Amino acid sequence: MSDVWAAAPDRRAAGGRPDVDVLIAGAGAAGLAAALAAAPDASVLLVEGNRNFRRACNTVLSTSMIPAGGSRWQRSAGIADSPERFLTDVMAKTHGTARRDVAEALTRVAPALVAWLADTAGVALELVTDFDYPGHSVRRCHAVRDRSGASLHRALLDAVRKVPAVTFEMPCRITDLLTDGADSVTGAVVQTPDGAQEAVTAHAVVLATNGFAANREMVAEHLPEIRNALYFGGEASTGDALRLGERVGADVVDLDAYQGHGSVAVPQGVLLTWATVMHGGVLVNARGHRFGDESRGYSEFGQVVLAQPDGIAWAVYDTAVDRLCRSFADYRLCLETGAVRQARDVDELVTITGAPREALAATLDSIARTGAGGGDEFGRTWWPRGLEAPYLAVKVTGALFHTQGGLGVDGHARVLRGGRPIPGLYAAGGAAVGISGHGADGYLAGNGLLAALGLGYLAGRAAAADRVQR
Ligand SMILES: Cc1cc2nc3c(=O)[nH]c(=O)nc-3n(C[C@H](O)[C@H](O)[C@H](O)COP(=O)(O)OP(=O)(O)OC[C@H]3O[C@@H](n4cnc5c(N)ncnc54)[C@H](O)[C@@H]3O)c2cc1C
Repeated sequence: MSDVWAAAPDRRAAGGRPDVDVLIAGAGAAGLAAALAAAPDASVLLVEGNRNFRRACNTVLSTSMIPAGGSRWQRSAGIADSPERFLTDVMAKTHGTARRDVAEALTRVAPALVAWLADTAGVALELVTDFDYPGHSVRRCHAVRDRSGASLHRALLDAVRKVPAVTFEMPCRITDLLTDGADSVTGAVVQTPDGAQEAVTAHAVVLATNGFAANREMVAEHLPEIRNALYFGGEASTGDALRLGERVGADVVDLDAYQGHGSVAVPQGVLLTWATVMHGGVLVNARGHRFGDESRGYSEFGQVVLAQPDGIAWAVYDTAVDRLCRSFADYRLCLETGAVRQARDVDELVTITGAPREALAATLDSIARTGAGGGDEFGRTWWPRGLEAPYLAVKVTGALFHTQGGLGVDGHARVLRGGRPIPGLYAAGGAAVGISGHGADGYLAGNGLLAALGLGYLAGRAAAADRVQR
């Protein structure tokens, strides 16, 4: 099914002028935010390459968590926070390796961004106050009510659809960038599935095509530690922005950074929210042992789970945790698909997991002791409470969600070449470098959508301004 909104502008009409002000590739969070921010001041052509994007872009698959330090929702909830405190948390989680200028720009814009999403884009955000995400020193994740990326994406798409200045064409991929032969990008080549190509000129091009996690060769090259993991992200994240950017000499940065996840339910293939852990649950391997401080973060636990026997683990928690997690659409799907198994006592848990009784019982005893407060042998101090029978158990594996490295950008989302902006070229979301430093453990909950929506917003505004200046 193809989809075109608004009559495509007569791109050849105005002699000497570009066909459109801003050409945006990719209709996930980054591209939609860029389109909304650029219009109505600028004419926008938004092209989307994947006809399944409403079901299969990363934004749709996400849980819609958008962090902001110092938002009005936090003020109403009496939570003292600021962009500076958020930045400190980002730098701490990445051991100081996150791109500081990008992290500064995103943490600074975040309060205005969530307000803009609610007020201008009509995204019904609320502050998540029922539990804490690893690495965030205060409660600062904002999400839609059902904590589902599909709802977030739908709201953004509806908002863009209402803006007359935006033309949307799908399926249409951009396959190349146009340049003026000197240093500027002047448009892009847009291709339809039948292979027809059109060169579209623009004052600015925004690459919002996500990263390269669906490209197995690139994953093997840049992320060897996670190359054999289940891939749980969007099918069209094939690295187009990197390929296009490299052709014009763009900087590529932190390609070893990614978001993993330690709890995808198998064989159902449904995300088991890490809220299970943050409410007091644990991960236990097939031998009945815990194997780390789960409260450090879900991203780093992707490869930790894969390193366990058969590459699996069991998430074990209780009915109180179960109740607290039901606000997540993904969790309700875990229940509906039968991923969540209930055990009246340790013996039934042994039957479900196949773990040796002695080891499992010892693990549960130790949780009951430490759960009352204090640390454990892994240094986990995060124990809201102990676990009590009946237990719930979900078989999980580690997965790759998305990449966090990409085109080097500055704090205005301008793509860099040798550290200097390439005129006319922007990148946002997974197409651009994120703020997660290196590897998997720098990823802080919400880094993905913040980089998508935040850089998209900044890119859209700056790209619209380009049309005035150039
Ligand atoms: C299961 C899961 C849960 C997650 N939960 C969260 C969360 O709660 N919070 C958070 O911050 N992050 C989360 N993330 C990460 C987050 O989803 C991504 O970081 C974010 O959605 C990236 O947005 P994007 O717009 O860059 O990419 P996408 O949403 O993937 O959009 C990119 C679009 O570009 C299109 N495209 C690709 N190539 C081309 C081309 N050449 N021409 C035209 N179009 C093209 C694609 O088809 C796609 O529609 C999660 C990820 C997963 C997989």
